[in-house]
Amino acid sequence: MTAGPTIGVDVGGTTTQVVRIDAGVPATARATTTPADPASLADAVTAAIAATLVDGELPARIGIGIPGQVEPLAGVVRHAVNLGVGGEPLALGDAVRSRWPVPVLVENDVRAAALGARAWLAEEDRLVPDLAYLAIGTGISAGVVLGGVLHRGRDGLAGEIGHIPVVPDGVRCPCGLDGCLETVASGTAIARRWPSPDGRSAFALFAAAEAGDARAAGIARDVAGHLAGAVHWLLLTYGVDVVVLGGGVGAGDGPLFRAVQAELAARAGRSALARHVLRPDRVLAAPADRPIGALGAAALAADVAGSQEQVSPAGAYGKEAT
Ligand SMILES: [Zn+2]
Repeated sequence: MTAGPTIGVDVGGTTTQVVRIDAGVPATARATTTPADPASLADAVTAAIAATLVDGELPARIGIGIPGQVEPLAGVVRHAVNLGVGGEPLALGDAVRSRWPVPVLVENDVRAAALGARAWLAEEDRLVPDLAYLAIGTGISAGVVLGGVLHRGRDGLAGEIGHIPVVPDGVRCPCGLDGCLETVASGTAIARRWPSPDGRSAFALFAAAEAGDARAAGIARDVAGHLAGAVHWLLLTYGVDVVVLGGGVGAGDGPLFRAVQAELAARAGRSALARHVLRPDRVLAAPADRPIGALGAAALAADVAGSQEQVSPAGAYGKEAT
């Protein structure tokens, strides 16, 4: 008898990604649209998982990453604002377990993605014990892995640095404070500061700055300076080996990443300590085409289930199930 697959799910504001891992090899990646109505979210996640299984097949375990405040073992989600989930708990774990009676672990999406980033680095022959994953998307948040283990903190909020105020008397943040990091450097903030009709404000802003637009260059430098500051905090606060930039805005080795690298280099040029901490090989961009969140959710489920299964580097992420 062979063990069933490990399933990893990444529930995003617009897209839900599912990976299926057979005998350690990621074989299938699928993307579906996340429903706008939270009442249908659990059904949609269940359907997305079912689409990766053949009839009657039982997965070995399921990991799910989702925005918001999460109780991992209970599988309960609260305050996933972009998904319409408020203070009323969403029992996502129970809903999935009622379909498949197997271990189901739910985790905050960025925390889970930190494990996916670590798995990606391992594939690149760079297995590090300590890593921070800085997700820049609609909001900003970090996931931290210390000694190979996800660091959640007492309430799962370790790494929620997007809500640290960085601009005195800045723009009011939905969290209630003024001038949070998210209000100046998230995808939402960039769209406000540099509106783009195609919805790709971050790319448009940094491309315009690189092309010599003076106003764009000023905003881009401010955004990149705040993101470089976040990288600097993470390196010094947690002492991690590497900070990986990811998320819908932060992934990919493009103009935003180059601007952050330039800001870090400017800091390093002024200080021997900064030069030591901000070495270029300690700051990387996650590949934009890799389902890092879903792979991290699968890795987390495998860890918690006590499985010895390792995710092999030989995975063919591009394969689409039909
Ligand atoms: Zn805030």
